[in-house]
Amino acid sequence: MLELEANLQAVRRRIRAAELASGRPEGSVRLLAVSKTQPAGVLREAYGFGQREFGENYLQEAAEKQDSLADLDIVWHFIGPIQSNKTRPIAERFDWVHGIDRLKIAQRLSDQRPEEMAPLNVCIQVNLGGEATKSGVAPGGLADLAHAVAALPRLRLRGLMAIPAPTGDVREQRAVFRRMRELLAGLSMPELDTLSMGMSNDLEAAVAEGATLVRIGTAIFGRRPSART
Ligand SMILES: *Cc1c(COP(=O)(O)O)cnc(C)c1O
Repeated sequence: MLELEANLQAVRRRIRAAELASGRPEGSVRLLAVSKTQPAGVLREAYGFGQREFGENYLQEAAEKQDSLADLDIVWHFIGPIQSNKTRPIAERFDWVHGIDRLKIAQRLSDQRPEEMAPLNVCIQVNLGGEATKSGVAPGGLADLAHAVAALPRLRLRGLMAIPAPTGDVREQRAVFRRMRELLAGLSMPELDTLSMGMSNDLEAAVAEGATLVRIGTAIFGRRPSART
């Protein structure tokens, strides 16, 4: 068996085991393959092993892969930081955007989403402090932003996303993910169905706390060159 196929199967097994361990229905967690830095041919291989959803962080790199994989019915997720002068190609090329943390960006994406496409699925990125990045709205600003984004006509607000600082301590991992679950519940917006959280090293903790979509790179594709993490 190819390493990529074995890795994908191992990640699917980890997700299923975590679903079972927390009494959640099988299939309640979607696997997003984070394919930044991977060449298009590797995505095509993963597609051949049944993977449909791919996450990309860098627009230029993603656009090249999208063009060469246009024959495949891939669901494309943009998971990187969004610059306001890059919103148009993101609105035109992706099915999901995970890193919304400002109304201005959301407004631009809504304005620029082509009429003939379905509304763009978006998640609001929350920064609980101590994050690996400075992106994300603080919990105190979440409710206002969520209601404003939900009102935009060409977006469909699906839920929340987080990129916690890496820690090997499972209790710390769970505490952060639990906080995300509570923030989502606290919004009282029952149409929101997504918690985008959990990466290669903490997916079990994320699933235990209610993740509905885990974003996995290293465990599927191997370690990335260190210049781009
Ligand atoms: C790179 C990246 C991931 C994947 O991380 P791994 O630890 O390689 O699984 C997930 N989410 C975001 C936003 C990323 O940038």
